[in-house]
Amino acid sequence: DPEEKILQYKIRVFCRIRPASRAEAAQGGAIVVEKIDEYSVTVETPRGPREFQFDKVFSAEASQEDLFHDTSLIQLAIDGYNVCVFAYGQTGSGKTFTMVGDKEQKNPGIIPRAFNAMFDIMRENSSKFSFKVSAYMLELYNDRLQDLFASQAGEAHVHTQSHGQARRVEIKRNRKGVVFAQGAETKEASSAQELYALFQQACANRHISATMNVESSRSHLIVGIMVESRNLTNGSVSSGKLSLVDLAGSERAAKTGAKDHQLKEANSINKSLSALGDVISALSAELPHVPYRNSKLTQYATRVKAITNNAQRNVESKEIAQLKEVIMKLRSGQSVEE
Ligand code: ADP
Ligand code: MG
Repeated sequence: DPEEKILQYKIRVFCRIRPASRAEAAQGGAIVVEKIDEYSVTVETPRGPREFQFDKVFSAEASQEDLFHDTSLIQLAIDGYNVCVFAYGQTGSGKTFTMVGDKEQKNPGIIPRAFNAMFDIMRENSSKFSFKVSAYMLELYNDRLQDLFASQAGEAHVHTQSHGQARRVEIKRNRKGVVFAQGAETKEASSAQELYALFQQACANRHISATMNVESSRSHLIVGIMVESRNLTNGSVSSGKLSLVDLAGSERAAKTGAKDHQLKEANSINKSLSALGDVISALSAELPHVPYRNSKLTQYATRVKAITNNAQRNVESKEIAQLKEVIMKLRSGQSVEE
């Protein structure tokens, strides 16, 4: 029963190894991550090599096509499920390349490919269903959600509540328990090109910290695509959502040498990312309670439904093992240190 499978398999974790950049190669930098097989990598650490397991590993040679290969998650969103795909890693590890692609879009990433695949699938099913696609695009910066559609100063056709300033968006939960971004402007799109144009418009509105050389590495980018499908035979309607997220860099505040407002940025990034770690840990341990509500980021990502071919293959790292321990303690009513 595919339905059962979907509900059972909640999260899948993939690893993509970035190739060395020209500069790194020129400096004679050592390769410290190596793919062992389809499911595992070794990482050179000061204390020797360590092995990590994933649902799938993509080597440095893997192309953007290889990465996108499987469109089953897009199909699920069209079928009425909530699906979330996000990239996690430190700044420079290839999150934006993987999610968005290169700057010139010669090598488009998951987001533009998902837009195309979505409209392709809908076209194939257009004799039986009619579809409506709408999107919101947000930036989560310092634990504050900004609407990337609402800040186009000088664009007459855009309904902005405040001039040149992004509206405040709040995470709310409706009576059915479905989480949504209240106050976020949604825009309809009738083709992949239109949706991509909206995405480019949103990216142009992102917050850029002037003192950080790596653009957008301090904020999370959240793209939500809602698909409503109406069965032309019986009139029944289902709605699903595909969330595509390019997370902020996972590096620690201490390592970045950040000060004052930069430190505040780093702290709130760490807070939301560690809350995300709790959620992943609870999902992979199949705990009955998943602590989605501890940060805006995870509140948003609530009820992540993704399929996996290998639910037993949990992400295991020291950090996640520790997180599991903490969650277990909390669940059994014991106190834990921060
Ligand atoms: P992040 O978003 O995690 O900070 P980027 O996606 O910006 O990292 O990647 C850093 C640099 O490495 C960019 O110049 C990007 O184009 C390049 N890069 C990342 N992944 C790949 C890849 N798989 N193949 C080729 N270049 C890559
Ligand atoms: Mg990036």
